[in-house]
Amino acid sequence: MGDRLEFLRRGRAELGNLGVRVQASSAVYCTEPVGGPQEQQDYYNAVLQIEVDCSAPELLQICQAVEQASGRVRRERWGPRTLDVDILLFGTQHIATKALQVPHPRMFERRFVLEPLAQIAPFLVPPGCTEDIAATLQRLPETPKVGKVLRIW
Ligand code: AMP
Repeated sequence: MGDRLEFLRRGRAELGNLGVRVQASSAVYCTEPVGGPQEQQDYYNAVLQIEVDCSAPELLQICQAVEQASGRVRRERWGPRTLDVDILLFGTQHIATKALQVPHPRMFERRFVLEPLAQIAPFLVPPGCTEDIAATLQRLPETPKVGKVLRIW
């Protein structure tokens, strides 16, 4: 909610401030909200390729610090928020703890995740998968529609 592009920009900058090296950014994609309260704005989504020296649990803490720094306030599940920062993949690691699941368990059903991911890593085959991101994306339904907002941000 709010100035969505500005929150994405600030979030990426804040990751950099906390020692995350951003190697590639997808375009920003726009998706209509699914479920949740009526009259939400469309969502803006982007995927970053990063390099870190820390562990995955430490990266999760960084992601949560970045969400806090954006002043994230969430009144209800699936409801509007300023910034949501998730870990999709962490190298070839499989992680299944209560606090952290990697690969992100819902990423493969979500066009708003796979479209931006396919833009920066189409031939990546995630751990546990037999096909690459581009092929997985092709099998997903066309709706809800995902549109590009900004190629460079
Ligand atoms: P949400 O903010 O709705 O994405 O959910 C955040 C919660 O999901 C946090 O409490 C995390 O502990 C948990 N979580 C589990 N797996 C992940 C992941 N891969 N990336 C980010 N948060 C995760």
